[in-house]
Amino acid sequence: MAGSSITFYERVEDALHDQQLQTALNISTSRFTNGRKAALQALPEADALRDHARRIRAHTIAHLDRYLGQFADSVEQAGGQVHWAETADEANRIVATLAQERNVKNVVKSKSMISEELHLNAVLEAARICVTETDLGEYIAQLAEEKPSHIIAPVIHKTRQDVADLFRQKLGATDEDLSDVPHMTALARRVLRNAFLQADMGISGVNFAVAETGSICLVTNEGNGRLTTTTPRIHVALMGMERLVPKFEDLGVMLQILARSATGQKTSVYTNIVTGPRRAGNNDSGEPDGPDELHVVIIDNGRSQILGSELAEILYCIRCGACLNACPVYQQIGGHAYNSVYPGPVGLVVTPGLYGINPWSELPHASTLCGACREVCPVRINIPRMLLKLRDEATKAGHYPGWLKRGLSLYRQAATRPTMYHKGAQVSAWLSQRLSRSGWINKLPGSLSGWTDSRDFPALAKKSFSQRWREERDE
Ligand code: SF4
Repeated sequence: MAGSSITFYERVEDALHDQQLQTALNISTSRFTNGRKAALQALPEADALRDHARRIRAHTIAHLDRYLGQFADSVEQAGGQVHWAETADEANRIVATLAQERNVKNVVKSKSMISEELHLNAVLEAARICVTETDLGEYIAQLAEEKPSHIIAPVIHKTRQDVADLFRQKLGATDEDLSDVPHMTALARRVLRNAFLQADMGISGVNFAVAETGSICLVTNEGNGRLTTTTPRIHVALMGMERLVPKFEDLGVMLQILARSATGQKTSVYTNIVTGPRRAGNNDSGEPDGPDELHVVIIDNGRSQILGSELAEILYCIRCGACLNACPVYQQIGGHAYNSVYPGPVGLVVTPGLYGINPWSELPHASTLCGACREVCPVRINIPRMLLKLRDEATKAGHYPGWLKRGLSLYRQAATRPTMYHKGAQVSAWLSQRLSRSGWINKLPGSLSGWTDSRDFPALAKKSFSQRWREERDE
């Protein structure tokens, strides 16, 4: 993805001129932001809960090796199997081999950002396995052959009319099917119900994993997570290695802030906690449903590199999406402009953290550093601090424009020579007065024109501060 020939700035330009995208983003991000605010205001101990959640995440990440070991033992005690994957290729190979060895033909997936990170669908499809996304947003993105543009609302960039056109084209929907949103969801439901019934394997992500019990927790609003993990005979859970909490009671803390921060709900409609595969046995001793096999794939794919760096705090993230909704940059450009699986403020840190700064050097600059992301983050991750660190890394790696380098070098020469500095200031003031109308410049020359593309620049004062100081003193 980083290898795309279209630059970040070109994608941003396209997004800013896409009126439909602007409308869709405006409606959705303000709905989520207002919902989050109301939900947290209604929770009297919200601040204390957020502090507690942060402590849990900080403690877990600081002792990740211990809790990973404990979790793996607990999964195996509950009858599941654990697989360790250091890279995306390794994770994909594990899942594809599990599927091929078990003659799997059809896979259903519940929403999983890590499977997007792995590009797993393409790998399974290359092995002639049919993959169906079952989260409605992900299903729409799959039909449209697009990538999700938000970590909890994959098609936030689409309007209802876009989806209606897509359903007509790809599913042969009738006017009645498209008459309103309930009819449209009923159509998707009918199609997806068949996919569940035919599936041999269900692939899910993991919202949280509990080290002491080996349980995995999935939150969804559509019930597709429950069907994915119980209907097919094999369940594969893909888990980023940082998804852990130590104890079951910690889960209670996390769940209270996750849905409120994500969508403004008190709790998600479905919270599934899976511990091991279906327990066999007769009558009361056995379970009536659930998979015969549970496989948990624990994936590193660059996370240990983050863990040992100044970006480790980003591993506290619980993927609620609140920072995306609150970010003034995301609100304008949407998710696709970032060209990364993880867009928005969290993605600005996670993406270069996972893959290195060189292919992603523009990303840390896609922020105003206003601090809105830190303010809304349920675990108070200091994203602006890490963005400054990444900007510094990008500069040290040589990623800054030539005009800036030349400009700074000129400035350094002038600033260390008072006569030259004062002459330069006088010439700049004279020039800026010539370029301005009523004290404002609406078109700066050359590389500086980017500033005035969308706002004016104030003209420099006719006299410098030191000139005025001298004049006043002499009077
Ligand atoms: S960084 Fe914070 S606000 Fe952003 S997705 Fe992660 S937990 Fe949510």
